[in-house]
Amino acid sequence: MATATKSKSKSGTSSHAANGHANGSAGNGFSKAAVTIFDQVGLPKDPDNLYTQTVSVMLHAAELMGLPDYLRLILAQPKNEIMVHFPVKMDNGKHELFKGYRVQHNNALGPYKGGLRFHHDVHLDDVKSLAFLMTMKCSLVGVPYGGGKGGIKVDPRQHSKTEMEHIVRRFTAAIAHNIGPDYDIPAPDVGSNSQHMAWIADTFSFLSEIGGDNPAAVITGKPIEYGGSLGREKATGQGVVDTLVEMLPELKLKPEKCTFSVLGYGNVGSWSGKIFQDKGAKMIAVADHTGFIRNDRGIDAYDLDTHVKKTGGVKGYAKATAISKEEFYKTKVDVFIPAALEQMIQEPEANMMNCRVVAEGANAPTTPAGERILMSKGIEVLPAILCNAGGVTVSYFEWVQNKTFQAWDLESVDAELNKHMVKAAQKTRKARAEFKCDLRTAAYIAALQRLKEAYEIRGLFP
Ligand code: NAD
Repeated sequence: MATATKSKSKSGTSSHAANGHANGSAGNGFSKAAVTIFDQVGLPKDPDNLYTQTVSVMLHAAELMGLPDYLRLILAQPKNEIMVHFPVKMDNGKHELFKGYRVQHNNALGPYKGGLRFHHDVHLDDVKSLAFLMTMKCSLVGVPYGGGKGGIKVDPRQHSKTEMEHIVRRFTAAIAHNIGPDYDIPAPDVGSNSQHMAWIADTFSFLSEIGGDNPAAVITGKPIEYGGSLGREKATGQGVVDTLVEMLPELKLKPEKCTFSVLGYGNVGSWSGKIFQDKGAKMIAVADHTGFIRNDRGIDAYDLDTHVKKTGGVKGYAKATAISKEEFYKTKVDVFIPAALEQMIQEPEANMMNCRVVAEGANAPTTPAGERILMSKGIEVLPAILCNAGGVTVSYFEWVQNKTFQAWDLESVDAELNKHMVKAAQKTRKARAEFKCDLRTAAYIAALQRLKEAYEIRGLFP
């Protein structure tokens, strides 16, 4: 059971204490106000539950800023939770039944927006949490979207290209009436890629009476040849590095002098590594589902990317040494970039970590208990809704290009992305100064302020 402690970071700001505040803790480490909302919307008061953790961070920010109760209630549950089952014929002639999800959390600011995860361990609670984070992220980074997320319970590595195509197309058909270019716009996430997005756009286009002028705008992260945007593939990593460049100086760190490690070397991890290296930083240690590697003289991020694309993982990379999980987390670096799955920095990992800054490339990689430890060690956490918002921002640019039949050059995409990232960082900093809180709480407050303004002006139907 988590304890209701309140830690202090070296900068003297209180931790977000998602599992507890000094004021009025009501057991399990949650505040009384949070428990009241959990009871009203039927959430488990389980400190290990990812969705409860995610909502509790928002509720802490809501308490600090005085968000009206009705908004806390609305945001504590998604608007729609869609679950589908669909059969697909495998290469061997046998049928398998697959489970898919689409959760639409909130659309007060615009159409639902969020990725599709293809992973054997996808559950409704994960998808709900990720959809919730998209609502916060889109609000913070200033794009006109709400939050959604989806996925298929499938391990893409276990299927041939033909099987994956049939799975993806059949899933698209199953949710086709619940998505649309003006209603809900999915994108890639863990396990899904631009080829999958192309199949989704193509399948949806066949159902063209629901697609409007350009049905391919139903999804972003498409290949460049089929409506994709330059810069989308690297966008999340680019946004991570834009955030670092904006935030490191106030922590007395120079990007060009930094050492760093990366957990997860897929899209977000490899692009963060390559772009941070381009700024002069040195990658020392990397981990993924295949293993842990280190080279104190530096690992070339581009060369490692080639190895991973060829072999499927970092294991066996000849220009670094294989190390243990403990050695990986204990490696001394300036910046640690988690870019794998949720809840990977728990108490044991946080206890081992030896860095100055955690830049959350992944969604929800740090548990509240893990974060309390990081803060007690004076480690600054750049929260995911700020740090990894580059992906959805360039997805928004792709959608705008599709809707207006334009193609932007890479310089324009990068420059516009940087503007959004810097502005989101400034809003976060401003909220931190005003509410004297940690950066995660501050990012949530900045996101909630925009949502509050929209609700106040719109009002509630009826
Ligand atoms: P990806 O599938 O390209 O890469 C995932 C990486 O995580 C792989 O390197 C994999 O080996 C690693 N991994 C998986 N399980 C692991 C384990 N148990 N231990 C160590 N490593 C493990 O996915 P991605 O698109 O790079 O997404 C990574 C994270 O970033 C996710 O949290 C995702 O939600 C988030 N994110 C992605 C985007 C995007 O544009 N792709 C945008 C915002 C946030």
